[in-house]
Amino acid sequence: MKQVLTLLPDTFLWLKASAGLLYNAKTFEKDGFNCTPSLKSLCSALLFVDNLYSVEIEPENFTADEAEFVDLVIRKKYGFITRHPAKAYSLPPVLSIQNDIKKLENSPSKSFGEDILKYLTTLTIYAGGRFSGPLYYRQTFYPFHSESCLEDLEILNFLGHIHSRYIKKVNIVFSHIESTNFLISLTEKLKATAPAVVYYCHVRELSDNVTSVLTQPDVTTILICEYEPASLKVLNDFLASDESRNSFEFNFLIRSQTEYNYWEHLVAQYKIQLYRYIPIYDNNYAFFKQFVFLNEEDITNTRLSKRIVFAHQAVNINFFGKLVLLPDGLIYSNVNKPPIGCMQDSPYDLIKNELHRNFAWRVIRDQEPCSGCVYQWLCPSPCQYELILGKNNLCTIK
Ligand code: SF4
Repeated sequence: MKQVLTLLPDTFLWLKASAGLLYNAKTFEKDGFNCTPSLKSLCSALLFVDNLYSVEIEPENFTADEAEFVDLVIRKKYGFITRHPAKAYSLPPVLSIQNDIKKLENSPSKSFGEDILKYLTTLTIYAGGRFSGPLYYRQTFYPFHSESCLEDLEILNFLGHIHSRYIKKVNIVFSHIESTNFLISLTEKLKATAPAVVYYCHVRELSDNVTSVLTQPDVTTILICEYEPASLKVLNDFLASDESRNSFEFNFLIRSQTEYNYWEHLVAQYKIQLYRYIPIYDNNYAFFKQFVFLNEEDITNTRLSKRIVFAHQAVNINFFGKLVLLPDGLIYSNVNKPPIGCMQDSPYDLIKNELHRNFAWRVIRDQEPCSGCVYQWLCPSPCQYELILGKNNLCTIK
């Protein structure tokens, strides 16, 4: 007897060669299966847009593979069966955000300008100045060494020029802090004018004066902590003597298991409350492979909403909406790619340039090997580590 198999609107069905994956974005259930030739036509029919996620079935004529697949779909609530002809239809999860971006690319008119301003939500400003250290700013918030630095007025003018109500966050990363006056002036002025501001200061730059400015109640500062002798000495002295230590948040950079163990011990010893561990690639491939790369268990344990799966298909959720100003006045969507403009450009032109050139905001997992992998849209968006490592994936699977 003819029946109709329909997948639920929250179900994603992905096929890559002989691998198939069912994922329900509401229950977070997921099941891989072997997409044999007899299953392929059933699955392809389900995915054919005009069929609205439904397919006619005749269970008495099922192959063993088809029976097993349909049983899985029903048992794990990826879909349901109704009598033929079907009364219930389901809409496959389709992308709308991608259409928005295409429309935006095809519409050069300035009237669209206000619309695209909403995409820019976060600015990071590297104040610059001398700082001897590696080029870790290419991976995370870390001081950028430069001969010149931005004055407080230049930073304020830039923020005034690029201002829009959609910018929700400004990060300011210091290199060497030459003068406390600069720090006082900047923090005072930004309290009045900007959206949420987060300051990043390397632990080596801490002094009594710097600490007193950056630990004010209405100032948020993240201390960049690096495992090297000069930094460890300053950090330990500060933690041992300063009661305001929990006014800071801490970014602990990690390049090895030893460094992780050290930070973990410090966190426990000083009861540090707000902290993050940030892996840093520095010729430590084995460490990355063991602790940073995703394995199959990590991926099958992910619980992503339909919204996030869509986002992975259309935009890079690590980079989307973010721009970076380096001390030479150039602006980047990704500091590992060429600049998209300079600080005098209008925000409209900067956003348009990035949408056009796509150095970061829409870099998704559409390259080999991810494009041939069933986990393509479950995995996190590509990140800086992949660029630094020269790889398109960050997993132990392919
Ligand atoms: S990183 Fe790419 S290759 Fe690795 S599991 Fe994710 S999608 Fe597949």
